[in-house]
Amino acid sequence: MSDNANDTIYAVATPPGRSAIAVIRISGGNAAKTPVLFSAPCPPAGQFNVSRLMLAGKVLDQVILLFMKGPQSSTGEDVCEIHCHGSRAVIDAIMVQLERASGFRLADPGEFTRRSFSNGKMDLSGVEGLADLIDAQTPAQLHQAWAQIDGALRTPVMAWRAELIEIVARLEAMIDFSDEDLPPVIEKNLRKGTKALITALAENLADGGVGELVRDGVVVALVGPVNAGKSTVLNGLAGRAAAIVSDEAGTTRDIIQIQLDLYGVPTIILDTAGIRNTSGAIEMEGIKRSVKAAANADLILVILDGSDKNWPEACDKIEKAINRQISQSSTNQRIVSGKSINDRPRLYVLNKADRGIVRANCSSEYKDKYNNPHDMLVISAKKQTDIDFLSTALAKRLTPLNHADSGVIITRQRHRQSMQIAHDALGRALTHDFQQAPELAAEDFRLAAGALGRITGEIDVEELLGSIFSAFCIGK
Ligand code: GDP
Repeated sequence: MSDNANDTIYAVATPPGRSAIAVIRISGGNAAKTPVLFSAPCPPAGQFNVSRLMLAGKVLDQVILLFMKGPQSSTGEDVCEIHCHGSRAVIDAIMVQLERASGFRLADPGEFTRRSFSNGKMDLSGVEGLADLIDAQTPAQLHQAWAQIDGALRTPVMAWRAELIEIVARLEAMIDFSDEDLPPVIEKNLRKGTKALITALAENLADGGVGELVRDGVVVALVGPVNAGKSTVLNGLAGRAAAIVSDEAGTTRDIIQIQLDLYGVPTIILDTAGIRNTSGAIEMEGIKRSVKAAANADLILVILDGSDKNWPEACDKIEKAINRQISQSSTNQRIVSGKSINDRPRLYVLNKADRGIVRANCSSEYKDKYNNPHDMLVISAKKQTDIDFLSTALAKRLTPLNHADSGVIITRQRHRQSMQIAHDALGRALTHDFQQAPELAAEDFRLAAGALGRITGEIDVEELLGSIFSAFCIGK
C-alpha cells in the first residue's frame, strides 16, 4: 500500500481491453478538480453531465462525468467518475493527464474499498462479501455475497459483541467495588446470558461448513479402477471433452479439474488416475494424488466397471486406500463442525450396465448398497440419459451441502476461527467464580469480545487488512 492516504487516487475500474465503455474512478480531495484537467465542468454533487474532454485544444472524447460529494459516496470521500469510450487511446490519454496532475496518483489494488472501510462505509465482513460478489460465478454465490454485504454476519456478531462488552463492564465494576457482594440474581443473569451466547455461537458453528462450500464450490472426486469409465463420466457431465478417454489403461495419470454449475451448485469435479497396483513411477504418483484428492473432496464418486466380476474387490481396495489417506492426513479440514471426516459422503456408480452387471461375488455389504439406489447407481456412461440421471443424483447429494439459507453466516475460515475462539473463551469464563475471581472471568469475556471484533474489523485488524485488500483488483 502507498503511504499517503490523503492522496487523490485514480484507476480504471473496468477490465483492460477494447470495450464500448470504460470507467475511470477518482477518489479524494482533488476529485472535483478532475474535469478541469480536461477543460470540462464538474457536475453538481450527486449529478452527472455529458461533456467533451479536451486536451491541447483537441477533442479527446465525449464522456459522462459523475460527481459524488463525500461522505455521500462509495469511499466516503469526494468521488468523480469518467465514463468514456473503452478505446486504448482514450483511456491512455486520460490516465497520462491524471498522472501529470499534482496531488493525484494511481490507486493500489483494493484501495477504493480500503478507503470505504477506513471511512466507516463498510465493515470487514462486508468488504469480504464484496470480494465474493466480484468473484461469484453461480446464483448461490451471488446471493450469499449480498447477504454478507447486507450484514448476515455483521449484525449478529455486533450484537453478541455488544452483549459481551456489557458483561465485561459489569464485571469491571465488581472489581472496582470488590468489597461489596454481588447480588446472586446478577450473577445468575450474567451466567444465563453467557450460556445463551455460547448456544448461539455453537449453533452457527455447527452449520456443516455450508457458507465456505458455497463460496469455494463443492469438490467431487471421481475415483475408481483404471478403465472403469471415469473420464467418460466426466466428459458426459461436462458436456464436452475435458478428459482424454482411452482404451489404454492408465491414461488419466494426473488430475483433471472441471468446474460445473450443477443445477445451481458450484461444483469442481476432479478426475483422478485409476487406482490399481502398478510399478510405473509416473502412474504411481498419479494414484497417490488421486487418493489424496479423494480424501480431501466433499463427495467421493466411486466409479466401478460393473461388467467386471471383480468390481466388489476393486471397490474394497479403493475404500481402504482412501480411508487410510483420510486417517493419515491432517489437512482434511474442509468439512468441520461435528462431522467425522470418515463420514465424507460417497456415491457408488456401477458403470457399463449395457454389458450386463455381474452380481456374483457380492458381499452382503455390497448387496445392501446395490439394492439402495441412493448409495449405488447403475448406469451406462456412454448414454447421455444415464449421465443426466447421474448428474441429478449428484445434485441431490450436493444440495444439502450447498443450501446457503439465511441462517448461514460463516463464509470464511477466518470467521469460523474467531467464533470458535469466542465460544471457547466464554466456556472458560463460566468456570470462574464471578464473586471470587471477577478479573479472571472478565479476561475471558474480553478475549471473546476481541475475537468477535476481529470479524467485523472493529479491533486489531492491521495485519488482516493487507491480505484482504490486496486480493482486489486495481480500481475496486
Ligand atoms: P477411466 O480409465 O476410468 O477414465 O475410463 P475411460 O472413461 O477412459 O473408459 C475406458 C473404456 O471404457 C473406454 O473405451 C470407454 O469408451 C469405455 N466405457 C466407458 N463407459 C462405458 C459404458 O458405459 N459402456 C461401455 N460398453 N463402455 C464404456
